[in-house]
Amino acid sequence: MIDPRRRVPRTDTLLADPRLAEAERILGRTLVKSVIADAQQRARAGDIAPEQVADHAVAALPSAAASLRPVINATGVVVHTNLGRAPLSQPAVDAVVRASGATDVEFDLATGRRARRGRGALAALAQAVPAAGGVHVVNNNAAALLLTAMTLATGREIVVSRGELIEIGDGFRIPELLESTGARIREVGTTNRTHLRDYADAIGPDTAFVLKVHPSNYYVTGFTKAVSIAELARLDVPLVVDIGSGLLTPHPVLPDEPDATTALRDGADLVTASGDKLLGGPQAGLLLGSAELIERLRRHPAARALRVDKLTLAALEATLVGAPTPVDRALAADVAGLRERAQRIAAQLPEAQAVDCVAAVGGGGAPEVALPSAGVGLPEPFAQALRSGTPPVVGRVEAGRCLLDLRTVGPDDDAVLLEAVRACTS
Ligand SMILES: *Cc1c(COP(=O)(O)O)cnc(C)c1O
Repeated sequence: MIDPRRRVPRTDTLLADPRLAEAERILGRTLVKSVIADAQQRARAGDIAPEQVADHAVAALPSAAASLRPVINATGVVVHTNLGRAPLSQPAVDAVVRASGATDVEFDLATGRRARRGRGALAALAQAVPAAGGVHVVNNNAAALLLTAMTLATGREIVVSRGELIEIGDGFRIPELLESTGARIREVGTTNRTHLRDYADAIGPDTAFVLKVHPSNYYVTGFTKAVSIAELARLDVPLVVDIGSGLLTPHPVLPDEPDATTALRDGADLVTASGDKLLGGPQAGLLLGSAELIERLRRHPAARALRVDKLTLAALEATLVGAPTPVDRALAADVAGLRERAQRIAAQLPEAQAVDCVAAVGGGGAPEVALPSAGVGLPEPFAQALRSGTPPVVGRVEAGRCLLDLRTVGPDDDAVLLEAVRACTS
């Protein structure tokens, strides 16, 4: 009898299989060959028959060349950092696709000369915040703070309240980020209370600027005191305000969340913010402030290392001028509509119930805000099963059940969600 391992098809033969040849065209040779090698290995180990190698390789092909998978965010956390923060709006997605080839990002088609990089996105940002004399965009808010400290504070002091020395996530801390530029942090006040005189006493010839940081992922209650932007603006040093979330104007659902326009009107010289939190756009760091300050930041040698690519500029511009974003819609959804959707879905699933629940804004801001919401409750084991489905659905486990919060699920995804739950039971 012939050893079956000798009948394992050769790689060339398998690559000629029309299904694998088509996959090679889309996914590339390296990826397809590695999938083939795994299937051949299984056949040599006797796990599958040699005749099954091609079928197994086809079944194991990933659906795209990149490994990031789209998931349904049913966590009820609107801006979920581990799920990529803000989902892009359709106009932003379209803009990214349009800009993905050669594009006039830094080129004037009329004159045939170099043009200001990302001028469309910058103009849209300037138009959205007329209170800003100048605007600039970098890789993220951390980069915006880094560039600010490098430009203004190397070898000098940044004055900041002890109540605002924040850790962003994954062990990264704003004070340490600022100190990495060679700036010194001058802490003032206490964790719960900082007064105007604390700042005034700390300011001296070495002061580069006063920094006010919005505590976007925690809040301090009780016996507290913080100094407002308007009061800090009266001190005779530049005032930089990190608002975090990226709201450009006040938000009706989040009255306590700071916004760039108000911060600038109150006297901030420079505002920094993220693009992918409440603004609902791509990862980016927004810098808005006096024209003179912005020009200095833009001209710093390190600005080049922090600049954004054309895809980010495209998505940001479309976010600013286009239709409401998924984040806007999640914040605006009324609870009666969410309940109706929950009931409609639950009615089609024997093990499900429509339930009221509470959603959150997330790491993007407003930690104290509870958003009334509704969702579908399922037995707890569904949580794991749904995460391993296609598409994966990420809910949250609460009070011993798996909860799918509809505030963070687009209404267009209800049918997909329903199918995903059904697939777990069949
Ligand atoms: C989220 C956040 C940051 C970090 O922003 P990235 O865009 O993730 O770099 C900095 N400061 C505040 C107040 C934040 O909320």
